[in-house]
Amino acid sequence: CGIIGVLGDHEAAPLLVEALKRLEYRGYDSAGIATINDGVLDRRRAVGKLVNLSDLLVHEPLAGKSGIGHTRWATHGAPNVVNAHPHCAGGVAVVHNGIIENFRELRAFLAEQGVGFATDTDTETVALLADHFRNQGLSPRDAAEQTIARLEGAYALCFLFDGEDDLLIAARKGSPLAIGYGTGEMFVGSDAIALAPMTDRISYLEEGDWAVITRDTVEIRDANGTIANRAIKTIQIDS
Ligand code: GLU
Repeated sequence: CGIIGVLGDHEAAPLLVEALKRLEYRGYDSAGIATINDGVLDRRRAVGKLVNLSDLLVHEPLAGKSGIGHTRWATHGAPNVVNAHPHCAGGVAVVHNGIIENFRELRAFLAEQGVGFATDTDTETVALLADHFRNQGLSPRDAAEQTIARLEGAYALCFLFDGEDDLLIAARKGSPLAIGYGTGEMFVGSDAIALAPMTDRISYLEEGDWAVITRDTVEIRDANGTIANRAIKTIQIDS
């Protein structure tokens, strides 16, 4: 339901939780975050209000300056911790808004490859597919590209990869997604309100766009794979 991504200059976990709070108005049944610390991916998830996630983080903190976060409104799979995002497979973590309509076909394909499933969600197939392509030797970028190309349905997605603390990959089709430009920091959010405390410089992905984001660079491609320029606007939202 709500997505946030951070390539920051400070600890990511507090920023991610703060941004998720700003997305609470959209409604949710569970929440979670993942970060990269010294190249290692880890996550925390909790059912119910965000305070449950914050409490968990007090006891089991997550370090690292890069991360993704999500508030979930379950469409496929019960609202429980196992089905909460981020979904991880191998060294890939994914947060997703929307519905992957062809997830049954994707699951069947993955099952043929001997891949097992930990959740009942449509989203897990996205992480498993990206992990599958990485296992075939593709870079995180190429694995994400191949994965996105196989998805049908409505999605806003943000990928985080182990060993890559300067990389977010975002994709948009049928669900809004914005990139926030900081100074030496970059952000992804399902709406500008989530990003307001961090930056007021925003560009919106258009239908079919996907973006490779580092702290210094943003490369956006449209559905045809052509480099796309999406205007950066300065927006005014009370933070
Ligand atoms: N379809 C996904 C799920 O049920 C994402 C739902 C959402 O947009 O929060 O986990």
